[in-house]
Amino acid sequence: MNKGEKEHIVCRFAPSPTGPLHVGGVRSALFNYLYARQNGGKLILRIEDTDIERSKKEYEDDIKESFAWLGLEFDETHKQSERLAIHKKYLAGLIDKGLAYVSREEGTEAGKRKEVIRFKNPNRTVAFDDLVKGHIEFDTTELGDFVIAKSTDEPLFHLAVVVDDFEMGITHVIRGEDHISNTPRQILIQDAIGAPRPIYAHIPLILAPDRSKLSKRKHGESVSLKYYRAQGYLPEALINYLALLGWNPGDDRELFSTEELIKEFSMERIQKGGAVFDIEKLNWMNKEYVTKLPKEVLSTYMLRAIDSVEQLSRLTDWKKERLIPVLADRIHYFGQVGELTHLGEFDYLTETPVYAKEALLWKKELDLTKTKTNIIALIALIEKLPKDATAEVAKAAIFPYAEEQGKGNVLWPLRMALSGKEKSIDPFSIVSVIGIPESVSRLNYALHLIE
Ligand code: GLU
Repeated sequence: MNKGEKEHIVCRFAPSPTGPLHVGGVRSALFNYLYARQNGGKLILRIEDTDIERSKKEYEDDIKESFAWLGLEFDETHKQSERLAIHKKYLAGLIDKGLAYVSREEGTEAGKRKEVIRFKNPNRTVAFDDLVKGHIEFDTTELGDFVIAKSTDEPLFHLAVVVDDFEMGITHVIRGEDHISNTPRQILIQDAIGAPRPIYAHIPLILAPDRSKLSKRKHGESVSLKYYRAQGYLPEALINYLALLGWNPGDDRELFSTEELIKEFSMERIQKGGAVFDIEKLNWMNKEYVTKLPKEVLSTYMLRAIDSVEQLSRLTDWKKERLIPVLADRIHYFGQVGELTHLGEFDYLTETPVYAKEALLWKKELDLTKTKTNIIALIALIEKLPKDATAEVAKAAIFPYAEEQGKGNVLWPLRMALSGKEKSIDPFSIVSVIGIPESVSRLNYALHLIE
């Protein structure tokens, strides 16, 4: 393709607002976005809302909000339903030319006859070279004279898509491979209205780990973008992750900013076969992005997550601040703050722990004598810390003593006294979050249990 042609690239994403925006739709939109931006082309959002019964305003809003949140911008937005007059004009033209005809047929309701408009199928072989799937040939005879409008006033999907792609000057149709079967019909209509053929790229479906198609019916809410938004994933991580679902850079790099994706994306590297949605990988990738967030941004996200969990929202601002780095270490996405809290992981941050005194005994210890000495020493060390001691400061004060006396014998009872749990965030971080007086009081309680 020479440069002149590239300048005229026009791509479109054409979702039907009949349900929450599917991650597969986002991925189609993203590939269109990357291709258009890479080539200085135009990107159009076309809301295909001609199915009045199934199309809903809330889903249209969901589509727009989702892309605004992702930071993917379109150059133009159209609503297909507002273009009815144009579709009707083409429909009338086809009928005039004898390329489509009004057909009166038995309706489904008893006795009622209804009218539909059928396309006069020239019954020929249609062939196209798909950028992803390669050469595809299709004998259209089996499609018969297919319906293109419910009446002269109600053009249907295929006609609307073809007319709009033509009128909008779409050069590249990049969409899910579930539309391959629609392509022969659409090509026949294109030829009938005298529209040039766009270049097709049908991208592989997104599959569940069991390789079944990722569908709302089977996989529930987790197929829609808003689920990930609500779970506190980062938009830039989702974009990066979805870009790699069916495309790869040709080497083992995995982390790409949107700018880098625009540079690197290539149709040649879109795979033919289905791409499995791997939540573990998304989680890993999201954590990579969480780790790289500037401090203030991390803090905004984290405080929002903390405040959305009733139990943690009760903490003082100072404790919340202290919790930020601790939680950032533990989570992959911000919704996990709530999940872990509800599992009881952070109970000791808001309540004093309850445990049996034997739980203070490190592994092979037989009696609590050593433990008691260590707790007394720990109290002395912690009491001396500044009120706002960070985890690092607490560690610097306690660790040398622990190394001297045996880490297990010091840190185990410290952890138990502070958290009541065998597993928790590290005890120094707990000290930094609950504060010095509370830490000392919990250690005193441990001492009291032993005595
Ligand atoms: N509106 C169609 C859909 O959401 C897509 C049409 C197209 O991309 O050609 O399935």
